[in-house]
Amino acid sequence: MAKNDQKTQDSAAKPELEFGRVWRYEQAPEATDHVTIAPRHELFVDGAWTKPKSGEHFATIDPATEKTLSEVAQAGDKDVDAAVKAAQRAFPKWKALSGEDRARYLFRIARILLERAREFAVLETLDNGKPIKETRDVDVPLAAQHFFYHAGWADKLDLLFPGQTPAPLGVVGQVIPWNFPLLMAAWKIAPALAAGNTVVLKPAETSPLTALRLCEVLQQAGLPPGVVNVITGDGRTGQALVRHPGLAKVAFTGSTEVGKEIQKAVAGRGVELTLELGGKAAHVVFEDAALDQAVEGVVRGIFFNQGHVCCAGSRLLVQESVHDLFVEKLQRRMARIRVGSPLDKNTDMGAIHSKAQLARIRELCAAGAEGGASMHQAACDLPGKGFWFPPTMFTGVSMSHRIAREEVFGPVLAVLTFRTPEEAVEKANNTSYGLSAGIWTDKGARILWCAERMKAGVVWNNTFNRFDAASPFGGFKESGFGREGGRQGMRAYVKLEGGLLPG
Ligand code: NAP
Ligand code: MG
Repeated sequence: MAKNDQKTQDSAAKPELEFGRVWRYEQAPEATDHVTIAPRHELFVDGAWTKPKSGEHFATIDPATEKTLSEVAQAGDKDVDAAVKAAQRAFPKWKALSGEDRARYLFRIARILLERAREFAVLETLDNGKPIKETRDVDVPLAAQHFFYHAGWADKLDLLFPGQTPAPLGVVGQVIPWNFPLLMAAWKIAPALAAGNTVVLKPAETSPLTALRLCEVLQQAGLPPGVVNVITGDGRTGQALVRHPGLAKVAFTGSTEVGKEIQKAVAGRGVELTLELGGKAAHVVFEDAALDQAVEGVVRGIFFNQGHVCCAGSRLLVQESVHDLFVEKLQRRMARIRVGSPLDKNTDMGAIHSKAQLARIRELCAAGAEGGASMHQAACDLPGKGFWFPPTMFTGVSMSHRIAREEVFGPVLAVLTFRTPEEAVEKANNTSYGLSAGIWTDKGARILWCAERMKAGVVWNNTFNRFDAASPFGGFKESGFGREGGRQGMRAYVKLEGGLLPG
């Protein structure tokens, strides 16, 4: 067993972290190039590592090599119940802490995360398949930023909701997907704790390791037992969690299909709900745009994180007059994308996250080709082992094609054309989703005109896939409801008591 894991297990065996001991701080372990992974992980309940009642564990693999990284506990109903009860016991004490004290814990978690940044980046890359360049520069720093940012609100809730008395909701059940495992955990946990709630979090079955390692950080930060509990398992664990009667709120990020099921499961129970679901975002590239800059944005929009991004720019709407030129530029740029070992710092695109996801990407591409669209794939040597798919673009796509309507959640771009701004907006909005959109034009007035008409929660202008903890993120229509980040994100974790102003 690794040295760090040993320390965590020892401290878990004898919990000595009490409420109010805000200043206790252990030395961060040294970050090394490689990361040590315990062969088996248990559940993190009430501040201690706990074996699942069933005794069952399952493997999590490295999608780039198909090698098993570790075994992870399968939480059943009784484990879920124990986790919710631990969060219920911790709630009155956590809620009673001053905002300043809660902020100290969050600041400390953020600092330790940054101190252990390399370890988290490597672990995330191994468990997820995404390139180290991204985990190092995006996932880990942004996760830390979410703790820093929300620490800043913890003692200023009265300023955030002037004239009202914000109060925490209680125990929050949080279920997250596999595409940004650590970042999604941070998006969920940081605002919940800042507002005074306690948490039971379920990471995705195929990428649980960074959320589990985050529990070490929580211990290191001296977070009191029960304030955050992490239970691993498959969809059944998520189902047991969202159905638990002890929850005051459910926060979910994942597919629209599961989001709808969760909405039914919480209906009529007086449980608050936020859903961050899928997307089918459009880039709209006008003829006057800085085309080379737009090419970079479109590439970033669809090939970042292998396209496993809910707000990925998976449709490109390009003005007819520049279509051929733009497609040629895109093809040239795609040929330069380096696909390969996620641990290589020069790699641009890593492994597809799972066999199942690869099968879905292949199925949708086959449907695109059968439907008469032209497929362009960048020539690249793909490794023999693991799950891989080259950067792919379809031209000659029409709105009736499945690749134009369904979320591929992979590195596949569907190119369509438009003639007038009105047609562009109409096509961009012609989807059941409403998460994000991108506008590329040199004209400021056109940006405003277009942005106003886009039915999308996030509209990027002359850029794409930029995230910040201060900026609310969330969707319309089948992309869900509720926001994460910013003031609106905090609103989702409080009830507003008293006061004269509407919430
Ligand atoms: P998913 O199947 O919906 O899974 C998401 C999470 O829910 C996982 O932890 C999953 O556990 C769990 N789960 C599965 N069935 C459940 C149930 N009946 N009740 C409660 N929890 C359940 O989605 P995914 O395959 O992980 O991720 C891909 C999808 O998520 C894409 O469609 C993408 O658009 C969407 N997504 C949206 C956002 C956003 O911010 N809007 C962000 C990321 C991803 P298992 O892992 O064990 O299945
Ligand atoms: Mg994995």
